[in-house]
Amino acid sequence: MSSEDAALSSRAAAVMPWRDGLYGHMSTALLPAGYPQFYERGQGGRVWDVNGNSYIDLMCSWGTIVLGHHHTAVEAAVANQQALGDCLNGPGRPMVELAELLTETIGHADWAMFAKNGTDATTICTMVARAATGRRYILVARGAYHGSAPWCTPRLDGTIAEDRGRIERYDFNDLATVQAAVDRCGGDVAGIMVSPFKHDAGHDQALATPEFASGLRALCDRLGAALILDEVRGGFRLNFGGSWDELGVDADLSAWGKAIANGYPLSVVLGADALRDAASSIFVTGSYWYSSVAMAAALATLNVLREQDGVRLMRAAGQRLREGLQAHAAAHGLEILQTGPPQLPYMTFAGDPAKERLRLFTQEALRNGLWLHPGHNWFLSVAHGEREIEGALAAAGKAFASVAEGSEGARAVSPLGDGSEQRV
Ligand code: PMP
Repeated sequence: MSSEDAALSSRAAAVMPWRDGLYGHMSTALLPAGYPQFYERGQGGRVWDVNGNSYIDLMCSWGTIVLGHHHTAVEAAVANQQALGDCLNGPGRPMVELAELLTETIGHADWAMFAKNGTDATTICTMVARAATGRRYILVARGAYHGSAPWCTPRLDGTIAEDRGRIERYDFNDLATVQAAVDRCGGDVAGIMVSPFKHDAGHDQALATPEFASGLRALCDRLGAALILDEVRGGFRLNFGGSWDELGVDADLSAWGKAIANGYPLSVVLGADALRDAASSIFVTGSYWYSSVAMAAALATLNVLREQDGVRLMRAAGQRLREGLQAHAAAHGLEILQTGPPQLPYMTFAGDPAKERLRLFTQEALRNGLWLHPGHNWFLSVAHGEREIEGALAAAGKAFASVAEGSEGARAVSPLGDGSEQRV
């Protein structure tokens, strides 16, 4: 039996690098057997692969989908702008309106600079911090992901030592290690970059302690360095007004992407007035950075999120999911650990350091129509209402049953029905 996914994978492998033609985080080489590589469409809280299978989508396209796939208000704004033009000789009205909305919404922000990917935004933050201070070092947490440019890509192939020559590491939630990193830099610190919570791939997550957040703020003030909050993953899910708003800690610079435009390509750097001159001094740009469609999408996305109090809805749905997972796991005698904010959950099994149980669990969830990733946090969207959460829990219940049975061997069969089993 042939499968569209297998056919596309082999065509991609012929004309693109990597096993199935997919590089970076999207490669199925990172996933257990049976995950599709190619998708046909998305609607609300579900996605469909090219073989016609549908899944409750708790990956939300790696966080970009915050209102649900193909949201009516966003698609209407996109269609309207598309009819006018996307890439013109300069930006359109939506850019100014969006910068106004963002600076009104995010406490520390007095100005906005738009780009396309999260990596663009984090990289711009390093440049603004260095331009503002005339110093060289950027501090980042060990294991944190800030993008795929040579200064921060997690894999060193293709980079040279000088690319990350002025990057120092500290441990998240550990101020003593931040101070030690500062000392190693001999005072030459331009900025400290931090994620609002610890979401390192493949690890249990951790919320920032209030002492850590306010300690970083105080340290940056003492040093005259920029506090840079990487909101690319957590932004507009943890808190509508900024992820550390509730902790009362303002960044000097913040990098945003993913959820901001419900899947349309847009990222933004937000900054405080004190850094406006530095931001004006650097040269950064891109052919598509001023295109209007994604900005129109962002305006619609943020307005709907605010009107519906989307963060509260996602948190409540995530909490229901968390309680349901706990109940199902306990019913099967399985011990699980759920970490991070409920709207960006991650789950591991106790005593499963190689993640064998977790991989089997996600594989079985997939077979039962629920898309989860074993090595990356999951994402809730506003489209995950009661029906989707109940559906997700029903699938998870079956997956827990399989884990309890420990029938891994029998489960390595691809749901593609084409005999295309892959063992990873
Ligand atoms: N920072 C964080 C915290 C991220 O999660 C990501 C993407 N996963 C990035 C930066 C880079 O964003 P992009 O992939 O859009 O370049």
